[in-house]
Amino acid sequence: MNVKARAELEGITPYALGQTIEEIKEQYGITTVRKLSDNENVYGTSSRVREAIMQATANLAFYPDGMTSGIVEKLSSHYKLDQKHFLVSNGSEEIIRLLTRAYIDRHDEAVMAEVTFPRYKTNVLIEGGKAVTVPMVDGRHDLQKMQQAITEKTKMVFVCNPNNPTGTIVGKQELLSFIDTVPSHILIIMDEAYFEYADSEKYLDTMPLLDQYPNIVILRTFSKIYGLASLRVGYGIMHEEIAKELHKVRDVFNVNQLAQAAAVAAIEDQAFVRDCSAKNSIERAFLSAKFKELEIDSYPSQTNFIYAFTNRPVIQALTENGVLVRQMHLPVYKEAFRITLGTREDHEFILQIVSQLFHERAV
Ligand SMILES: *Cc1c(COP(=O)(O)O)cnc(C)c1O
Repeated sequence: MNVKARAELEGITPYALGQTIEEIKEQYGITTVRKLSDNENVYGTSSRVREAIMQATANLAFYPDGMTSGIVEKLSSHYKLDQKHFLVSNGSEEIIRLLTRAYIDRHDEAVMAEVTFPRYKTNVLIEGGKAVTVPMVDGRHDLQKMQQAITEKTKMVFVCNPNNPTGTIVGKQELLSFIDTVPSHILIIMDEAYFEYADSEKYLDTMPLLDQYPNIVILRTFSKIYGLASLRVGYGIMHEEIAKELHKVRDVFNVNQLAQAAAVAAIEDQAFVRDCSAKNSIERAFLSAKFKELEIDSYPSQTNFIYAFTNRPVIQALTENGVLVRQMHLPVYKEAFRITLGTREDHEFILQIVSQLFHERAV
């Protein structure tokens, strides 16, 4: 090939997608697959969403609202925060890309945790920036080391809280003092994709800090607890001057009409959100305790998944039985994996497979 892409792309590999449900069914000759590999909502979507989408199909021939005003109005009243702070996007992943597009110059640095959402690094590299990764402590962000990693070239820091894939949060005081020490010309990007699942007293709600720290950008999404992953809607909450810059680099019609209708209906159903979060907390405590009995350890999670590690081989057996998890790597342990929390029925099925497996080996 004589046509060369930009040099920045040389070191970038496309995101590794898992096998599809159909592929797994075929490979193992099974009919039921439990996809617990991508942190989707196992309770589905609010029942109001389908109706809203059906109504929106009347307007398929028209471009969608380029300002996503329906969603912005709903978010503004839900959070009691002025509309000028919201920017809605094609998944919150798009906001990450807009931020690097608008703010990363060649050789600028972005500080992030070593084991976190891979899109931060990829987008920084695409713009010719440098990703400075800081090792974790027990699956948590080491905010002190992250602060020490800031140099004259640093343009942004990413804090994924709760963190994907480890599920952990950073402490309230620790995060407050971190935010306070980061110089005001550096963006602090708080990725809170799992915000609605966090129920710890130690979890800091960053939204009230926007006034005092105009360099904070908060990312949230409709892909996780709202159960709209297939439609791609996310949003950022930020100072209006930052929003103005991001509007310059985004696609004009970045959120399609069906997705907009669905998101509006989904925000209106907060009872669904509360219900999913409550069930998830119960299942989180259940599965991690049962795993521990089976010598499968995990980090304390504040999300709808847990990061588990063990010296006993389980991933293959789970996959063969149609339970899809995301394989991870953790030094010292033979196996590590991220598993989305399922229903009680999913968990009982999983625990049965694992205990049977261990029993067989012991005999
Ligand atoms: C799932 C996820 C997102 C974003 O997802 P979108 O579907 O693009 O909104 C962002 N950050 C983290 C940490 C996630 O796990």
